[in-house]
Amino acid sequence: MNARVAETSGRVVVLSGGTGSAKFLRGLQKVSSFTVVANVGDNAWFHGLYVCPDIDTVTYTLAGIADSQRGWGIKGDEFKALGQLKLLGAKDTWFNIGDKDMATHLLRTSLLRDGRSLTEATSIIARSLGVRRWTILPSTDQHVETRIMTAEMGEMHLQEFWVRERGRPTPTGVRYMGSRRARMTEEAARSIASAERIVFAPANPITSIMPILSIGGLRDALHKAKARKLAVSPMVGEGSFSGPAAGLMVARGLKPTSEGVARLYKDVVDAIIVDESDRAQADAIGKMGVSCRLTSTLMRTAGDEERLAKVAMEA
Ligand code: GDP
Repeated sequence: MNARVAETSGRVVVLSGGTGSAKFLRGLQKVSSFTVVANVGDNAWFHGLYVCPDIDTVTYTLAGIADSQRGWGIKGDEFKALGQLKLLGAKDTWFNIGDKDMATHLLRTSLLRDGRSLTEATSIIARSLGVRRWTILPSTDQHVETRIMTAEMGEMHLQEFWVRERGRPTPTGVRYMGSRRARMTEEAARSIASAERIVFAPANPITSIMPILSIGGLRDALHKAKARKLAVSPMVGEGSFSGPAAGLMVARGLKPTSEGVARLYKDVVDAIIVDESDRAQADAIGKMGVSCRLTSTLMRTAGDEERLAKVAMEA
């Protein structure tokens, strides 16, 4: 292991979404301990169960049980309960929940009903699955919901936009319902305040990172934090590696590029890691006061994930 990485491994905080973030975290697992401050904006109720897709993707990934091909859910899971729900005529069966995954949602929901916080429920589930060296914290214990405005169908939950409608409607705007009254958790506040390094994972800026930044107190906490703060760009050229980030960036009036991401984060990061093929954007990014580190940001193999994580620990 790289000695320098080992020295700085103590107080690393990663702001994280789901699928892209998980690849990065899998690489970071090999080089550092860390605390994840996770997005909650994609949380939703299905069949009376509270589902937290990003928290679960991170938990399953760190536990080594994620279905990394699919990018969500548990490896080898079956969908018998969902099939039965369809047979019974339940609504919202478009959201895929595997049987083992459903156990997570059942336990979480019952813990919440017993008065436990989302932070406690997340910790109980993560520990039960063997995640001990890494801490997963929801950014807030309150319900925050990313809502997408569309040209054709009006406003809807992010999951309805991306999963039910397969991202087809034209996005015209985004809002984070509940974020103004939501407060960052004490645990998240403490880990941000004491961090040496805060990394924004390669995550969808509009649906993973901005919902975190929109939570009461969080942006201020980042401003005050003495840590080195850097982002890994999820964009390459004029698009994202995957998912709806580009269209949503455009809907927010931003260029769908790493330069656009730097503009969005410029008051809260010192540096951004950008794909080397986007060298031409480095000048414009530098002029914003954000230093630009060029490297390959594609994570196709486990080796790519680890290499990018090491760059993020050293940049
Ligand atoms: P979500 O909550 O499931 O949307 O997941 P995230 O927000 O964590 O991740 C989605 C983002 O990951 C997308 O914007 C992708 O562009 C980005 N992403 C996916 N694969 C890669 C990759 O190999 N490299 C980088 N840099 N970003 C990636």
